[in-house]
Formats: sequence, C-alpha cells, structure tokens
Amino acid sequence: MAERTNHNFKVGILALQGDVEEHYNALQKVKNKPDFKISIVKAKTKKDIEESDALIIPGGESTTLSRLIEYYDLYDLIKNKRFILGTCAGLILMSKDILGKREWQKSLELLDITVSRNAYGSQVHSFSQKGIITLGKNSYEIVQTFIRAPKIVTVNSDKVRVISKLDDEITGVELKTDKVHYIGLTFHPELETELVHEYFVKSIHNYI
Ligand code: GLN
Repeated sequence: MAERTNHNFKVGILALQGDVEEHYNALQKVKNKPDFKISIVKAKTKKDIEESDALIIPGGESTTLSRLIEYYDLYDLIKNKRFILGTCAGLILMSKDILGKREWQKSLELLDITVSRNAYGSQVHSFSQKGIITLGKNSYEIVQTFIRAPKIVTVNSDKVRVISKLDDEITGVELKTDKVHYIGLTFHPELETELVHEYFVKSIHNYI
C-alpha cells in the first residue's frame, strides 16, 4: 500500500502505450488546485502500480495494451485497483464484453457492459462534439472527442450508471460501490478538460 498522509495519495497513469502525457497534464491541473494533494506517477512497473492508490488507463490501442499487460504480468495488479478511470481503449479493457476483440485479448472485466470496438469507423472518422456528462450531482456540457472510439452497446447491470451521453448514445458509465469506483468513457476528456480527473480525485478522497 502506498504511504500517504491524510489527503495525499498517488494516482498512477498506466504508461505502457497511449495518451499518457495528456492524462498527466490534466492531472497536473487538478494537483495545482489548493484542495488536492496528490502525486502523479507514470506507472510502468509492478512496483509503480502497487504503489498507486488509483489508476488511469489511457486511450491507445486496446490490443497492444492487452499484450503489454500480459507481457509485464500486470493483469491481477490492475484488476485489483479500487479506483480506475479508463478512456477509450482503457474503457474497452475494463468492459466485460468486448465485440470485435481479438480472441487472445483479455478483459479486466470490471464493468458489466458490452462495447463494440472501432464502432465509429477508422482514424479519419474521428470527431469532436458537445455532449453532457454528469459527475456526482453536477452535469456539464463538454466537448467529447472520439478517436477510433468504441460504442457502449448495452449496460448489463443496474449497478453500472450511465453518466455521459452524446445525443442518445451512451458515452460514459461508472460503477460506484462502498469499495470501488470505476469510470469508463468512450471519448478522451483529457484532451479538453480536467473536470473528469477532478471528479475522480475528489471521489477517492472520500474513500480513503
Ligand atoms: N480503437 C482502439 C482500440 O480498439 C481505441 C482507440 C482509442 O483509445 N483512442 O483499442
């Protein structure tokens, strides 16, 4: 367990592949706010992940991330984290049911949802659009950027709450229990805003 004082804990960004820097920058903005005492680590090794109280799984390529997680033997360590924010490929890895996955691709099975990989098309079909996200009691209109993004096809458990939408499409979910808080988004909030990171960090403060 990470060593920490009252309100100081470590947020790891899984740094095997993907948009690690963008998450790092968003977290830095949260860290610079007066109420938040966190340290941020780009987590590559077992030790980094063990020492992180919370983990962000960035966007990138879920097949590559899967392979690297297996290769470095990080699967169980990641699966056992109590606080995880996954964006795009990160969300895919968190989903129990992945349509269009490679047969060897292993899910972390943290969110009981069905996602469909690359559901908007290829890189050239990437786009940004305003959508609504609800973070705790507050709803915000934010720009949602989709890059070879998955779609959340169905939510298969009533414990998993829809928190974000783009028109009628579900673009974000969360699972919040007395033990864990997982957030999964099909888009990349880290490119536009630190609101989600702030909500995530604030939430962890309430648990530990
Ligand atoms: N299409 C990618 C995948 O299947 C995800 C893209 C992203 O994370 N921006 O993993």
